[in-house]
Amino acid sequence: MNEKILIVEDNPRNMKLLEMTLRAKGYTLLEATDGGEALDTAIRERPDLIIIDIQLPKMNGLAVTKKLRETPEFRHTPIIALTAYAMKGDRERALNAGCDAYLPKPINTRELPGIIAAMLLQRQGDKSQHKR
Ligand code: MN
Repeated sequence: MNEKILIVEDNPRNMKLLEMTLRAKGYTLLEATDGGEALDTAIRERPDLIIIDIQLPKMNGLAVTKKLRETPEFRHTPIIALTAYAMKGDRERALNAGCDAYLPKPINTRELPGIIAAMLLQRQGDKSQHKR
């Protein structure tokens, strides 16, 4: 298991927590701290999965997700949105922007690895079934 995961998070404490949680699972981690950097890194590194904070400097996580979904290479990349505000309608906005999952903060570090593993497995299944 050496999948590449891009973590986009501007809060250093949350970034650290995500890093510690996922590095232990053997993933290769890439990091970005704002929307522009997220797009650049995604295009350059082609991560297998993206975890993205909604509230980011420069370009928010929903705008980044929409841009990625417009790019054929990222049409089926699993994207998990994180948000600090459990606002009504947030979930819908995240899913409408093209995110596959939506997780409220504080980050549940016990649950997250299982969610990621399931999404990566699902993606592999999709790829081997047919090239879309
Ligand atoms: Mn943030």
